[in-house]
Amino acid sequence: MSKLIICLLGPQGSGKGTQAKILSQKLNLPHISVGDLFRLAIESNTELGRQVGPIINSGKLVPDEIAFNLLKERVANLDCSGGFILDGYPRTIKQAELLDQSVKLDKVVVIEISDAEAVKRLTSRRHCPRCGAIYNLYTLPKPHEDELCDKCKVKLVQRVDDTETAVRERLQQYHAITEPLIKHYQGQAVKINGEQTIEQVAADIAKSVGRLQLNQMLDN
Ligand code: AMP
Repeated sequence: MSKLIICLLGPQGSGKGTQAKILSQKLNLPHISVGDLFRLAIESNTELGRQVGPIINSGKLVPDEIAFNLLKERVANLDCSGGFILDGYPRTIKQAELLDQSVKLDKVVVIEISDAEAVKRLTSRRHCPRCGAIYNLYTLPKPHEDELCDKCKVKLVQRVDDTETAVRERLQQYHAITEPLIKHYQGQAVKINGEQTIEQVAADIAKSVGRLQLNQMLDN
């Protein structure tokens, strides 16, 4: 079977992480979130974590080479040999150019939402500090009890970079620095309306990726 590499692009809060997880299960391919890898480094207090922690907490982007090297290390793992789903990489033209030197993306799925929707979703996002489950105070999935993890019953917390100031900084960076990637990937990009239910967005993505898999089968 040939390698399938899919990238999810879109502003913060567009549901890239949620959709990447769904796609990862459907296609049985690893979901690679560079933001998660950075957060793991911060939690583990590694040298990398100490270096990037203040940058991430302020909502700014980590330097391109650092992000690329982290990704390169991750995709060298055996579980990526059949392909992978990228969430949050590339975020700059420079990062895309570094990536283009080693792999070709099969499909770039752009999940579109308005800034107002992104601010609303992100400032109400919470996660469980124990199991990592993600909730939203206003949209689904909502915690059953008041700000407690349904499973662990511990108090949910907010990401430091999900405060309104940090979210606005992140959105501004998205429009200025990341959005030009849609043009960079013109041939591979497909736009999806992210302001639908999780299931509807997943169905739209599945449709576009399904077509791609079919084409790949016909090519082989
Ligand atoms: P995310 O969880 O994808 O929103 O990422 C959280 C934070 O990690 C971002 O605001 C950046 O500070 C950093 N980060 C994640 N991916 C990248 C990337 N590709 N390039 C630079 N910084 C990144």
